[in-house]
Amino acid sequence: MLHNPMRFVHFIGNESVPSRSGESLPVIDPSSGTVFAQIARGGADDVDQAVAAARSAYAGLWGRVSAVDRGRLLRRWADAVEAHVDELAQLESQDTGKPLKQARADAVALARYFEFYAGAADKLHGTTIPYQDGYTVLTIREPHGVTGHIVPWNYPMQIFGRSVGAALAAGNACVVKPAEDACLSLLRVASLAAAVGFPAGALNIVTGLGPEAGQALAEHPGIDHISVTGSTETGKRVAIAAAGHHCPVTLELGGKSPQLVFADADLEAALPVLVNAIVQNCGQTCSAGSRVLVERSVYEPLLERLAARFSALRAGPASMDLDLGPLVNRKQQQRVWDFLSDAQAGGIEMMAQGEIVDDAPGDGFYQAPVLLRDVPSAHRLWQEEVFGPVLALQPFDDEDEALASANGTQYGLVAGVWTRDGGRQMRLARRLHCGQVFINNYGAGGGVELPFGGVKASGHGREKGFEALYAFTTLKTVAIRHG
Ligand code: NDP
Repeated sequence: MLHNPMRFVHFIGNESVPSRSGESLPVIDPSSGTVFAQIARGGADDVDQAVAAARSAYAGLWGRVSAVDRGRLLRRWADAVEAHVDELAQLESQDTGKPLKQARADAVALARYFEFYAGAADKLHGTTIPYQDGYTVLTIREPHGVTGHIVPWNYPMQIFGRSVGAALAAGNACVVKPAEDACLSLLRVASLAAAVGFPAGALNIVTGLGPEAGQALAEHPGIDHISVTGSTETGKRVAIAAAGHHCPVTLELGGKSPQLVFADADLEAALPVLVNAIVQNCGQTCSAGSRVLVERSVYEPLLERLAARFSALRAGPASMDLDLGPLVNRKQQQRVWDFLSDAQAGGIEMMAQGEIVDDAPGDGFYQAPVLLRDVPSAHRLWQEEVFGPVLALQPFDDEDEALASANGTQYGLVAGVWTRDGGRQMRLARRLHCGQVFINNYGAGGGVELPFGGVKASGHGREKGFEALYAFTTLKTVAIRHG
């Protein structure tokens, strides 16, 4: 443990603000398991202060900034992020264990979100509606007011970008509760917002624990819309708390996303994508391609080639920039181990496993990538989100069987289909029960421009793309009788 770790506090009204209780939480480097910083442990009082700052910004200076000027501010913020990509990547990498190049990609994507919503801010408008003779009816898109954002630890910068970028573009003031395991990059990004000219209170960040600061934010009557990315359980808790004050919610929750590989597919093109969809961010991705269904005639050859790739993958400290870093914390590591021991108990065959490099510190939270074959549909490895680098495979004999298995979990976030048959591409795109379908490609949540979100236990509402601007606004109808 370091004697003088760095100290990070809340960001409220463009100021650094310690928690009222004076309490802090340790920040652990997942690569080594050591404490290297402290963050403020926020409670209901701190959330109250942040919501008050946001309400006053919304009623004051920020609420009067025109759409075009909101776009200009976002554009300047994007430039500032781009100018600090290396610093942000370094912070994120140490805080979450992401290999540096993945952390860098997240910082670049953050800038792209701000750029996208900068351009969209002044293109969000209502419509006119034909109505009775003597009337003009129009709709106006208005910000909710103050929006709450609960951000997880797996892609802090990207999820902050898609959620806060869209909310600010639409004119809301924001209060953010990052995950206790991933605050540092976002606090730095918030300081850049102040530097480029966002008025005090437009953006506020309260750090702390989910059940304390997060729950207080969801319950707060001064919050007019709340979005959460996280587990299905947390999504439910937040939705229940928000219902207490009639607050709309956007829920982006877990997934167990399937990729369906047919015998006529370009397997050469599919292979690296199938691997990356589960290895990226050590499998800690809501839209990870964690199940692969393969037509029986190509099952064994594809398995062999996947096994060769998995065996060559290496996990190690984030700073070594290998294929995988560590998992984010001890709890997640234990969770993955529990799944793997259930696989073993269920007699599921491990086809291949990557390697943890010798240089990896013993107290880091490492997990080598694992390939499991013939996973039965009823097994929890086929049904539940592992959130680790564990790929489950299953053969199928025909399209209907593949579809039933793909749709047969509580989740519905993303799916991938690999086939050259155009009719099948369209049929499956329509029949897969989820929010995004990729044909002959797979982007785990990919594309700033692409609306993203789920059905069933994967949540509801859409983030990203232009669609998110609708989620962060409310529609008012104005009917004028003029004769
Ligand atoms: P959580 O759902 O607990 O965490 C997600 C976010 O919600 C964090 O910011 C967390 O804060 C916050 N939170 C937790 N409890 C509450 C609450 N009562 N009210 C408001 N906010 C709250 O996920 P875990 O970190 O526990 O991970 C468990 C599993 O959840 C993972 O294995 C994975 O399956 C899933 N998950 C899915 C994600 C996705 O992208 N959809 C992202 C993260 C997890 P804090 O971390 O400070 O407690």
